Amino acid sequence: TSIFAAVEMAPRDPILGLNEAFNADTRATKVNLGVGVYYDDNGKIPLLAAVKAAEKARLEAMPPRGYQPIEGPAIYGQAVQNLLFGAGSELTESGRVVTAQALGGTGALRIGADFLHRMNPNATVYISDPSWENHRALFEAAGFKVENYPYYDPTTRGVNFAAMKAFLLGLEAGSIIVLHACCHNPTGADLSDAQWGEVVEACRERGLVPFLDMAYQGFAEGIDQDAVAVNLFSASGLQFFVSSSFSKSFSLYGERVGALSIVTASKEEAGRVMSQLKRVIRTNYSNPQIHGGAIVAAVLSSPELRQQWEDELAGMRDRIRAMRSGLVEQLKAKGVEQDFSFVIKQRGMFSYTGLSAAQVEQLKNDFGIYAVSTGRICLAALNSKNIGYVAEAIAAVVK
Ligand code: PMP
Repeated sequence: TSIFAAVEMAPRDPILGLNEAFNADTRATKVNLGVGVYYDDNGKIPLLAAVKAAEKARLEAMPPRGYQPIEGPAIYGQAVQNLLFGAGSELTESGRVVTAQALGGTGALRIGADFLHRMNPNATVYISDPSWENHRALFEAAGFKVENYPYYDPTTRGVNFAAMKAFLLGLEAGSIIVLHACCHNPTGADLSDAQWGEVVEACRERGLVPFLDMAYQGFAEGIDQDAVAVNLFSASGLQFFVSSSFSKSFSLYGERVGALSIVTASKEEAGRVMSQLKRVIRTNYSNPQIHGGAIVAAVLSSPELRQQWEDELAGMRDRIRAMRSGLVEQLKAKGVEQDFSFVIKQRGMFSYTGLSAAQVEQLKNDFGIYAVSTGRICLAALNSKNIGYVAEAIAAVVK
């Protein structure tokens, strides 16, 4: 018999399964709102002009392809820190922060998880209820027990902050708490600045290990505004983790560009932490790929390209917001009485629409519109051509 005879079929990834069904659908009007990708108004994944320019310069230089340092080049780490903590800030100057290039936000979370597991394998990891579906799987794969903390409140379509805070205040010291720094996936419901301040204090009081997941910096209000949680943790003097993803903000999904930053108590501590993080990386994939990181570093460290990128990022942000308000308007225009104005308040690419699994099913069957069964839709998959059709379909299923 085969050595694989006992291997069971793993459950299908729900979102990838949705994509397969969408691709097989032959209706010309079909729309895929299930994705986690930013599309432009023509329904295409953009290649940013700033990225194109940096890529062209690299191609012309034709640099050799030696190995990178285990943690990636220093210029990349510096660029990431400037983006998160501000250029010239106390943290970036102090030498207390270590940053390693990683394979996307996922890779950053994973090397962070592996490092944490070596530090304290018995800690429990807490993720929001609900959260990005890979958070649980990833921390479990690193060997942790994973539990939920209260987060989304379907009645207010916002955060049940009282429940969240009370829960955090009841946790054991050393518990790892994964926080979406902005643009919560899947709900679109974020904490207010004041609530972030209370979360920081709860982490201090209970001795928790905060792990901020920053996958959408610049998609809510702006690059600096979206770093409010990072700034509050920075100002607190606490130690914490931040994973960054440039998949969305640079539209570089397949290049796998991200970073893990760890804020420590001192420069001396940072040296010890980095030495261990490097062991984690070395035994996983040895050192990161060159291309995507070089593009991001080049854009972030050239004043012209950086400005161009900021403008393009603002364009993506504004388009998503226009789709949010456009959808709400059109639903109203189609005679929907239910108040959908919460869609405007939610931030980032996603909205928890409150559509039931049955309504999502009906959208698929009757209209060829695909969404996640939880009612999550991606606003960045809407455009000026399909928004009317989508509004009409939603109107038909909620009436
Ligand atoms: N965290 C969250 C909350 C995300 O939504 C995503 C991407 N969908 C990631 C991390 C992973 O990002 P990447 O594709 O860069 O690995």
